[in-house]
Amino acid sequence: MSVLVRAGVWPLRAARSVIPCFWRGKYFSSGKEPAENNLVTPMLRHLIYKIKSTGPITVAEYMKEVLTNPAKGYYVHRDMLGEEGDFITSPEISQIFGELLGIWFISEWIATGKTAAFQLVELGPGRGTLSGDILRVFSQLGSVLKNCDISVHLVEVSQKLSEIQALTLTEEKVPLERDAGAPVYMKGVTKSGIPISWYRDLQDIPKGFSFYLAHEFFDVLPVHKFQKTPHGWREVLIDIDPHVSDKLRFVLAPCATPAEAFIQCDETRDHVEVCPDAGVIIQELSERIAVTGGAALIADYGHDGTKTDTFRGFCGHKLHDVLIAPGTADLTADVDFSYLRRMAQGKVASLGPVKQQTFLKNMGIDVRLKVLLDKSDEPSLRQQLLQGYDMLMNPKEMGERFNFFALLPHQRLHGRNHQINALQSEPSPSPVAGFSELVWR
Ligand code: SAH
Repeated sequence: MSVLVRAGVWPLRAARSVIPCFWRGKYFSSGKEPAENNLVTPMLRHLIYKIKSTGPITVAEYMKEVLTNPAKGYYVHRDMLGEEGDFITSPEISQIFGELLGIWFISEWIATGKTAAFQLVELGPGRGTLSGDILRVFSQLGSVLKNCDISVHLVEVSQKLSEIQALTLTEEKVPLERDAGAPVYMKGVTKSGIPISWYRDLQDIPKGFSFYLAHEFFDVLPVHKFQKTPHGWREVLIDIDPHVSDKLRFVLAPCATPAEAFIQCDETRDHVEVCPDAGVIIQELSERIAVTGGAALIADYGHDGTKTDTFRGFCGHKLHDVLIAPGTADLTADVDFSYLRRMAQGKVASLGPVKQQTFLKNMGIDVRLKVLLDKSDEPSLRQQLLQGYDMLMNPKEMGERFNFFALLPHQRLHGRNHQINALQSEPSPSPVAGFSELVWR
């Protein structure tokens, strides 16, 4: 615990805005009205044109178009996070969240033998707040990380958010290098002097020992939806409502579709959502971790292969009909961790999912909260810290709906050589923090 006690020297971030009580895993009852009064959005016109030309589209195609279409996608041109936006996330609620994740990466770096270099890779970094909090911990623990060559790599499709991330993370005196057409579309230097690069695709990030992080990223990846019928599985598609020309509706495919191959033979639910893009990303992460080392930490709301219909929309901190005014609201589906585990199997070991409450408790959130409370005399700041803690930890808030899941090289859990371990001539590997209590050796 010595490092956490030293955490007392870490600065308090500037106060975060008053904590709104809305996050995406929750079903809301209040909030602002949908941004656009006109429900016939440019995205709806684009989709209607598409469906008229080629027929009904899958829910996955709908999500992909609505969220990340390069011209009109919901994520591409707006900042949807925070009080003024559509939803709030843990790193935006409390600085403690990112700090504890920073500690997790350092603890894994120590446990895996303190490599000479590592890449910190974040998928879907939002406003850059989480990476910012992690990098602050890296700076504060500079004496531990000294001589380690760190670089930061962000995977982001949103032009707007990548600009906000650059403002949050980079040193403004060092001009950003931009090349919109290149796989690395932006480069700079962080406030603490670390090289930082932006990509649209994980595949373009250099291979090497890396710590990967994905917080509320997998839930925005496109899902296919299937309904069990007397004739077998049928994919849910989106079509134009025959009674209202500018309205969309769900229909069932008349016969089997190729994506059906993703459904398990022994599936017992009558409705399932599958996310092939998540499978591709997990396989890529697993291959990289198996070959070059490191770890991936994935945090999201989700289930372990038990839930059915979780596809939903959010606008102005309010639940929003997924088919109304597409492009003005966030679309999301719970992450199926059992599917992620299956996709990683064989290549790397996986841990979790464990509840956010358990993970943060194991990481020492109570110690860190106490240190910050002891340091602050300002009542509003103390209240903000306590409110933030409650949002992250309370089972009725984010404590139980959000989960942590990790991918690690097999030898991290089982030691380099099972037989030597059995003979006790090599120390057994240290437990993985968060999934068990944090221990500093
Ligand atoms: N991790 C942040 C933001 C979560 S919102 C937080 O917790 O606060 C989802 C993020 O993923 C946004 O930054 C969005 O622009 C990005 N994103 C969505 N789809 C993506 C894709 N296909 N590839 C890369 N980034 C994507």
